[in-house]
Amino acid sequence: MFIKKSKEFDSLVLRDHNKQDKSFDDEVDSILEKSLKGGEVTEKEGVVLFNLDNNLIHKVFNAADKLRARSNGDRVTFVVNRNINFTNVCYMGCKFCGFAKKMDQKGSELLSIDEVVLRAQEAWDRGATEVCIQGGLHPKISGDIYRDIILAIKKILPDMHIHAFSPFEIWFGSSKKKMTYVEFLRDLKECGLGSMPGTAAEILDINIRKRLTKDKLSTEQWIEIIKTAHQLKIPTSATIMYGHIDTPAHWSMHLVKLREIQKETGGFTELVPLSFVYKDSPLYIENRSRVRRGPTLDEVKRMHAIARIMLNGWINNIQVSWTKLGPQVAQEMLNLGVNDLGGTLMNESISRSAGSEFGQEITASEMVKIIRHAGKIPMQRNTVYGVKKNFENCEPKDVPPLVPRNGKSPLEFIS
Ligand code: SF4
Repeated sequence: MFIKKSKEFDSLVLRDHNKQDKSFDDEVDSILEKSLKGGEVTEKEGVVLFNLDNNLIHKVFNAADKLRARSNGDRVTFVVNRNINFTNVCYMGCKFCGFAKKMDQKGSELLSIDEVVLRAQEAWDRGATEVCIQGGLHPKISGDIYRDIILAIKKILPDMHIHAFSPFEIWFGSSKKKMTYVEFLRDLKECGLGSMPGTAAEILDINIRKRLTKDKLSTEQWIEIIKTAHQLKIPTSATIMYGHIDTPAHWSMHLVKLREIQKETGGFTELVPLSFVYKDSPLYIENRSRVRRGPTLDEVKRMHAIARIMLNGWINNIQVSWTKLGPQVAQEMLNLGVNDLGGTLMNESISRSAGSEFGQEITASEMVKIIRHAGKIPMQRNTVYGVKKNFENCEPKDVPPLVPRNGKSPLEFIS
């Protein structure tokens, strides 16, 4: 099922780590020392780090924390934004997806452009600098919807940053319009697209993608769309979705692929590791015995720390997804290589549809409290990591959550 690697690679990966010896400890130390000196951790070495026994993993966490402190100091950032999922109708049938609905299914929706604009205006009035817009691949929408949404928002909110449309949507929209990726993306940029989410990456491996998405958007297509965006000066985030049918070998390979793209284009703003949310996903429901229920907490820690180490010097912002992990675990990651808490979101529906239980919004005041409680300096940023406001000695305007929470606070773990 998985990519066959060289014999040398296999022996390193499959080594019995319970029989660790001095030379193995030295090998781990030398990988970490190299990374602390600015050297590059290879794919093979990444696998060694992911597979380390618990008695050595603290070395990885320490190195990740040092590298985080070197590149970001004690600053931890967040962005005030709103998620707008303009449709949840999609026929792509990705097996990991608990978000998509059929057109006639209960709960399916397609927002009008007026409604999208209204939500953007509401977000702006609540201090948002960004709207993050993504949707399903609705068979009845026109390829023009992407430009129409951008133009409509920009008409009334020219300064709102539009972070929108996954590579899957770019693939879909460009094929509907019979345009090349470069033509389609150039047009969206001219309309006012500011940046793109680097979602739909999942794991950039053909065998895994065949099982997750039937390889409808191939690794090569994902990379081509991302590189095209970067060449047009449309920055994107980078993601990895892990904890399903994948292994540490895939994680290391994926991180190296992202690093290679970054060397070529410099267009990634951050990496966001995304834990697989299993509950309502067909992948898990149809094959409970062979599909994992997302990564363990230990794997979550390793992913954030090793991503920091492997991407050091190339992608220096590692973001934790509080919607997947909850605010308490997200806070823990701030000492394991993470320097960004992502967005306030206001409306989160993708993770919640798949069974995540961590609410829709963390307000700016709450972000600041979580960051301070971790001993770090809270900063509000814009989408591309420019600092907007330092909250070391002041408070953000207290804006109540957009959707009332019925008394439940995401900060219960602090008080
Ligand atoms: S992940 Fe995206 S493209 Fe795949 S089924 Fe879900 S909404 Fe559709």
